Amino acid sequence: MIFLDSVMQQDIKTLKGVGDKTAQELNKLGIFTINDIIHFYPRDYEDWTNVQSIEEVYKSGKRGCIRVKIDSEVKRIFLSKGKTIFKVRGSDGQNNISIIFFNTVYMAISLTRIKNLLLFGTVSKNNFNEYQIYSPKISQNMGIFPIYSQTKNITSLKIKNSVKTALEKVQNSIEETLPSDILEKYNLCSLNFAIKNIHFPENKDKIEKAKRRLIFEEILIWQIGMSKIKNYVKQKTNIKIKKDFSDEFLFLLPFVLTKAQLRVINECTEDMLNTDGLAMSRLIQGDVGSGKTVVAAAVAYNAIKNGYQTAVMAPTEILSNQHYNTFNKIFQGMNINIGLLSGKLKGKKRKNLEDKIKNKEIDIVIGTHALISENLKFANLGLVITDEQHRFGVRQRMKLAEKGKNPHVLIMSATPIPRTLSMMIYGDLDISILDELPPGRKEVKTFCISPQKKERAFKFFKEIIKNGGQGYIVCPLIENSENEMFSTDDYKNTILNETFGGYTSEILHGRLSANEKEAIMKRFSCGEIQILVATTVIEVGVDVPNASIIIIENAERFGLSQLHQLRGRVGRGEKESYCVLISYSGTKDTKRRMQAMCSTNDGFFLAEEDLKIRGPGEIFGNKQHGIVGIKLAKALKDIKVIEDSKKAVREILSGNYLNQKSYQPIKEKIFSLINYAENHITI
Ligand code: ADP
Ligand code: MG
Repeated sequence: MIFLDSVMQQDIKTLKGVGDKTAQELNKLGIFTINDIIHFYPRDYEDWTNVQSIEEVYKSGKRGCIRVKIDSEVKRIFLSKGKTIFKVRGSDGQNNISIIFFNTVYMAISLTRIKNLLLFGTVSKNNFNEYQIYSPKISQNMGIFPIYSQTKNITSLKIKNSVKTALEKVQNSIEETLPSDILEKYNLCSLNFAIKNIHFPENKDKIEKAKRRLIFEEILIWQIGMSKIKNYVKQKTNIKIKKDFSDEFLFLLPFVLTKAQLRVINECTEDMLNTDGLAMSRLIQGDVGSGKTVVAAAVAYNAIKNGYQTAVMAPTEILSNQHYNTFNKIFQGMNINIGLLSGKLKGKKRKNLEDKIKNKEIDIVIGTHALISENLKFANLGLVITDEQHRFGVRQRMKLAEKGKNPHVLIMSATPIPRTLSMMIYGDLDISILDELPPGRKEVKTFCISPQKKERAFKFFKEIIKNGGQGYIVCPLIENSENEMFSTDDYKNTILNETFGGYTSEILHGRLSANEKEAIMKRFSCGEIQILVATTVIEVGVDVPNASIIIIENAERFGLSQLHQLRGRVGRGEKESYCVLISYSGTKDTKRRMQAMCSTNDGFFLAEEDLKIRGPGEIFGNKQHGIVGIKLAKALKDIKVIEDSKKAVREILSGNYLNQKSYQPIKEKIFSLINYAENHITI
């Protein structure tokens, strides 16, 4: 197979018919080698095997295949400006249709010669209610043909021909990547069959078979890769709660929990009752404000009442402070001891707290991720809660196993992502969704405006600040660049002076040190700063309930999930809150995204939309430089294949099969994913 492997790695220029120019265009699509091109899958297919009636294609509103008999001569019609159209009439036995070509008589004439043929295109109706089809594709052969994502400079047809040549070159002997027992158990076709049929399928069933096989592998690689990165593998444990104290906890709260909160608390409790001998490994996803903290507290209460300690980790010092205050409030009067292991706690005081943790005088410890990697000794740690907010920090590995006893793990995330995607990212985690906000929440009023209306938006912004409010302005860049996006520098150098003179403001971006950022956030938090101009770093911000307006420059540059996260900075207090999106583009995609933002505050809905519009490639990073896999999996209709692959992942990891020889090809792919992820992914 060494021979074949080297063929796979050859430059596409070695293919017949691929010259420098074509190669350049293919490179832009992320295709460099023969291996790349055979894994560049069609975006869609033209199905010429499914012959429909004229009426059916018309009603579908989509492109489709019709069989017609031509029953007229070619009619030439002169239009203005020297343009000519050529028209023939045909029938499918039920209805007549006009077939129209622009400027080319050749196509029309060839139609009359063949008489009985297949046409592919969109059927419409003219002013006289007669069917018509413009410039259809013509063929005498039935078949299913691939359509590739073409660019301005390279057509789908050209890509198709290159793929064909590449497949001929590898001689139908693409090396299998999955071990045969997995193929058999999950009823998957070979990689060779899959590649052949994803490009040139004989029938529809074979496309589905091929897709299922390829998606299965993509997801398998993702799940294993992600569980390795995050160490999200279910561990055996002896830690179990014996009694469920949830009801007792509920009586201590000043409000009634939502149905979603109750459901999720129940799911966690089931996990910790530990009937399967495995530690809880659960992710709670819930939009900002959905009440994750109370859920976490309920779960912690159960652990504590059963005699275990709980650790709560947050990504920043500010957030761990915030959690410390929240937990203190919730557990007021419940005889529960809470410790804050802050980075600032030094010397004797720190030693004192560490001793208390070791001696079980502390029930809950709150701190940053350092909490878990430090040499902190727990008396009996039973539960670890991680608040990731919404940053998926791949580099932070949890070294829980080293703490000895495999505690239950609960992760909270405020990034609503589609279920199918989170199954991929979070691999072996079980997922609970808080899809309900506590009653009485106000939605953030969202508007999308064109740049012409910007002055009015600024005026409105100042109005709010004059009345004691605070606000954010977000820019996509820090410095000016040629691509005409707004930067925080633009604000620093001119706009703040010209438009917002007399108000206190500060600039926040990723180039500042953690200390500088924290200091600014603190000043904003206590109201010292009125306007915070920032890049997207404020996504990982603190709660400032007094901030009630956010203006986002170049909103068209952001994904929906990101816009939603940014919007989540406001609407946290009593005040009516506003989000103003300034869009500098009028494309269809942008309009669709802005409309979605203005029409809903539902993060899960927006995440699904984002996935539909942009696809997972862009959500996870740079589409071009091909994150490993996830090409097909965006056709995420098939939950079953994800579940199957999840099952396989569990078997592979628990059986430690990755080191077996038959897993070598998959293992290599997993490592290249990990390598990529550690350098590129943050969501
Ligand atoms: P997040 O999911 O963003 O972490 P929090 O847990 O911080 O949300 O909750 C946001 C606010 O809503 C808190 O002030 C909390 O006390 C309150 N809250 C949580 N659950 C409920 C509920 N069921 N009814 C009313 N208020 C609630
Ligand atoms: Mg929270």
